[in-house]
Amino acid sequence: MKIELSKKASEQMDLAANRAYPDECCGILLGKVDENAEKGYVEVLEAREATNQIQGRRKKSHFEMDPLFLYQVEREIEGSGLEVIGIFHSHPDCKAVFSEEDIKYMVPGLVYTVLSVTKEGVIETCSSYRKNR
Ligand SMILES: [Zn+2]
Repeated sequence: MKIELSKKASEQMDLAANRAYPDECCGILLGKVDENAEKGYVEVLEAREATNQIQGRRKKSHFEMDPLFLYQVEREIEGSGLEVIGIFHSHPDCKAVFSEEDIKYMVPGLVYTVLSVTKEGVIETCSSYRKNR
């Protein structure tokens, strides 16, 4: 499955990761998924930063999104041709590799992007998508 991140989506995620540093950022990915296309493709066109609801030190290594945020984004993109296709979050001072916990909560049919961020900025990103079927 080919996963393409648009420049806009990358910039929006970088901004969120830098702003939240040294805490984890989180948010929603918008775009298009076509599992039926030859080999299938995922196009991440935009990203929307959410508030990480975790409090205190755990926020440096965990995130939790307000479900109401998802609802607000869904209303915002209604009729725009965009769809909610996944979730992104950052790993401050840590590699862009999905943790065991990240993998445990992954849902097929959603795109996951993780960003490695240091005080110098975003170093690398990694994306994952498992087919629904
Ligand atoms: Zn993670």
